[in-house]
Amino acid sequence: MSAQELVLKQRTELLDALCSSGSSETLEKLLDALLAHGELTWEDYHSILVPGRALYKNARQLLDLVHVKGSDTCRFFLSALKQVVPEVQETGRSPTQCVASVMDTGERQCTSAQTLLTQRLSLVNMLQGCIDDTLEALLVSGHFTSGECDEVRLPTYTPSQQARRLLNYVRSKGDAAATVVLNSVQQRHESGCNLTPEKVTPSNEFVKYQKKLSSSLSAQSCFLSTYGGTSHVSLEDIYTKGQLELVHNCPGIKRPLGMEDIVGPVGTVNQDADTVLISGEVGSGKSTLLQRLHLLWARGAALQDFLLLFPFSCRRLNAEQRELSVQELLFQHCCWPDREQEEIFQFILDHPQGILFTFDGLDELKQSFSDEYRLCCPTQQAPVHILLFNLIQGSLLKGVKKVVTSRPEAVGPSLKKHLCKEVLLTGFSPSAIDSFVRKHHTDPTVAAKILGSLQANTALLGLCHSPVLCWIVSQCYKELLGCGDGSPQTITDVYLMILQHFLQHQRPLQKATALAWPQEHLETVLRLGQLAFDSVQTTCYVFSSAHLQMHGVTEDDVRTGFLVQSKDMSSTYSKYYEFLHMTMQCFFAALYIVLSGNIDRSSISKLFETWDSKETDLKGTCFGVCLPPTSQQEQGPNGKATATETPNLQITATFVSGLLSLRHRNLWRHCCPGATLERKVKQVEKCLAKGLQKHFKSIPQPVPGEKKSMHAMPGFVWLIKCIYEMQECRIAKDAMSKLEVDHLKLTYCNIGPVECTALAYVLQHLRNPVGLQLDNNSVGDVGVEQLLPCLHICNSLYLRNNNITDEGIRRLIAKGIQCENFRKIALFNNRLTDACTQHFAHLLKARPDFLSLRLGNNNITAEGARQLADGLKCNHSLQYLGLWGNSIGDEGAQALASALENSKSLVWLSLVGNGVGSAGACALANVIKNTSVQELWLSDNRITRAGAEHLIQALQHNTNMKSVW
Ligand code: ADP
Repeated sequence: MSAQELVLKQRTELLDALCSSGSSETLEKLLDALLAHGELTWEDYHSILVPGRALYKNARQLLDLVHVKGSDTCRFFLSALKQVVPEVQETGRSPTQCVASVMDTGERQCTSAQTLLTQRLSLVNMLQGCIDDTLEALLVSGHFTSGECDEVRLPTYTPSQQARRLLNYVRSKGDAAATVVLNSVQQRHESGCNLTPEKVTPSNEFVKYQKKLSSSLSAQSCFLSTYGGTSHVSLEDIYTKGQLELVHNCPGIKRPLGMEDIVGPVGTVNQDADTVLISGEVGSGKSTLLQRLHLLWARGAALQDFLLLFPFSCRRLNAEQRELSVQELLFQHCCWPDREQEEIFQFILDHPQGILFTFDGLDELKQSFSDEYRLCCPTQQAPVHILLFNLIQGSLLKGVKKVVTSRPEAVGPSLKKHLCKEVLLTGFSPSAIDSFVRKHHTDPTVAAKILGSLQANTALLGLCHSPVLCWIVSQCYKELLGCGDGSPQTITDVYLMILQHFLQHQRPLQKATALAWPQEHLETVLRLGQLAFDSVQTTCYVFSSAHLQMHGVTEDDVRTGFLVQSKDMSSTYSKYYEFLHMTMQCFFAALYIVLSGNIDRSSISKLFETWDSKETDLKGTCFGVCLPPTSQQEQGPNGKATATETPNLQITATFVSGLLSLRHRNLWRHCCPGATLERKVKQVEKCLAKGLQKHFKSIPQPVPGEKKSMHAMPGFVWLIKCIYEMQECRIAKDAMSKLEVDHLKLTYCNIGPVECTALAYVLQHLRNPVGLQLDNNSVGDVGVEQLLPCLHICNSLYLRNNNITDEGIRRLIAKGIQCENFRKIALFNNRLTDACTQHFAHLLKARPDFLSLRLGNNNITAEGARQLADGLKCNHSLQYLGLWGNSIGDEGAQALASALENSKSLVWLSLVGNGVGSAGACALANVIKNTSVQELWLSDNRITRAGAEHLIQALQHNTNMKSVW
């Protein structure tokens, strides 16, 4: 295959290589090489590197140009690319060799200006160490004005960009200016200036401290605490990779993110910030991910650019009452240096780039993030939350990398502006569930049985997407395999399974005549329940032995395994405990609400009104991120729930709904009076109905001629999940009978498979078909499958940016074909390839009334387009076809054009950014001539004059066309 064909064929991979780091450095280096070799002119250079244009677009422009320039340029381009990608560069020449070679060639060239061009790549490297000196020399020699020097030095540019700007300016200043630059570089070289990044040589005491810190971190992080109560499982044995996504879409990054990417440059949106946020729902594995990160660093297996790693738990920081300085915070909370504390701290201050801090569970901190109080002095003492906030925003220890974890709803805009990027942890993929279960059970027969029962119960499979639920299901495999048709469907089912598992594990029932298990263990459940209930309301997650005694919690109760010793807080002298997981604390609080006779009548309604207050609205599921936090959020127990409590109270309410569901009510028959239970059930039902009613009332009346649309308000998805937990059709039907909308918008609502199951369960009872918009969530293939029960009620389904693959599409289409109402689908920016287009072709053939198919920004090539064309030939209804940002090329465009030649239905066609050339354009000219198409989008392709002329000619024969782009 010729180099030119390769550039076309591997367009997606090439774009990926150029853009995947999120920084334009690779592209700019490549441009340096092409310029230096004379493959690009300066005009080309400026047409590619358009300031303010997206990196992805610039890269496309480069690929188009290189392709147009022919095989030689393509060959040089491919070999230059190999040289500039970082991994290959590492084996390149040392900077010293570069200096020598630049100077040598400099002598051989006719002019200094030519040397600047031919040696551009090396000079960009070398100049980075002496930009200021070189600018000074240019200023003194009168070649540059001080304004020009300032423009080069603009802090928005990286050092390499500053070097390039300097070289670009010098171009217009003549050979003498170029000589000044070369002399400056040479002088720096001769004076022994270190052009490489500073080599760090820590002292012996520092190295000892480093060892102490890493061995304590290794010891702390090698076991998983959830297994603490039952068995010791090493993290390395059980760790399974969760799915990490960049919150801000970074076009071109198609590969899964790895551990190093968390702190690496990929996806950086704010170069000035040093804080990375890992957000994820409770139980999605955030703490475990950090734990693994700590372990890998401590064992020297990753992140070795960092000399020290300081781990913090916000749970523990909550308990710190003293005012501390940063130095005290580091040394007292993480690891104490045996000697030379001042020297070690000074080293940290001097080398911030070599230090990493992690803060687990920012959502658990009692105070909401605020950047109002600034602190810059590392020796000044302050309350720990003030230290923490100043570290995060970089007022303290600027340059130290920070990784913070939190639930998404607890992250407000004041924090967002200090983030260099946000990474979303969405739990386990289907293959990770498989791998987790196999790691958990060394007996392959057991693992196979568990996986078999998950495959047979897709609702449960959806739940296992959450690692904490996956762990419970796998842990309780005996109960799971023994429950036959009554296999768990809801989160409450799963937690009941572990409740029974742990209780019976501790004291197995001896006789068939013994009390039912809930009754037998009622006292334990109530004691642990009250502890959980009281503390969930006061955001208390760690309990001292005295605290347990106060609640009457006995040693036997502790032995059940629901409480584990807190790793962060316990010492030889005092023991501290926490629930196995936050969700377990909520579950026990819910058990207490359901089973205790001491629960105030108003408790249930208060619990379900957590979303319904001004301050907690701000932090709710969907809009929290858009609204500023208020001071009220830190309000205490007298007011409504605080920001930190709300999510936990919502989880508790979800469990209350499940525990009071018809299917579980019987369990509690001998634990509390029937009438009390009935009253609580009625209260929950009333609260759910009232909650939804409030949402429905807030739907604005549609503008005449437009559809009635509801954008989910905070708490809507949560109420739907509560209804799902109740597992009563009647309640779901009642709820939906009052919802009358044409369009239901649930974008950016953190919807994963678990939420999809609940949504489908409830929405299937809608009376009229709706457009269901789920863009920008984490639906995935498992979620798609969960949505199938409500597909019949969807006339359009929007699933843009949801990590869906060909497999998800296969299942979706198999059902969609049978759903009469289903006529539009939007799948922009998923992970679709040519393997799914046959299914769309099938859909187009089988459904003569299908209207809109949007598949932009996926990986569809000419082959996929041919398959779509096959379907289009038989379809006479499709009006919208979107393939923006794929790679169908000329062949694909020709196939589509031939299928659409006489279309009388299509009104809109987009083939933007598909590598379509003039041959494709000629074929598409026929579509313009003979069809009903009104809008044709062809921008960002490779169409040359010949192609454009064909299109223009065709337009003369067309009466429908409104615009061609
Ligand atoms: P979060 O911090 O998001 O609430 P955790 O990290 O505490 O979630 O995870 C809850 C439990 O789920 C862990 O104790 C562990 O049992 C399981 N778990 C989470 N992530 C993983 C993983 N990557 N591999 C194996 N188990 C995991």
